[in-house]
Amino acid sequence: MYKVCKKCGQKFETEDIFLAKTKFVGVQSFAPYNLLSLELRDCSCNTTLARRLPILNNNKNLKPLLV
Ligand SMILES: [Zn+2]
Repeated sequence: MYKVCKKCGQKFETEDIFLAKTKFVGVQSFAPYNLLSLELRDCSCNTTLARRLPILNNNKNLKPLLV
């Protein structure tokens, strides 16, 4: 199991299913070197779930949110 929503219990069996069933909110990058970025996505129950992103490579189109 890739992820389970803690609030509504919806199960996301794979990362692809998680991406398909959640709505993109934004990316949180932890400065200074973006060693860790979290993508925030909303479940259908409006709970925000985080997905750890690989170190920046093809995420240049995403606008980082400053923490
Ligand atoms: Zn949910």
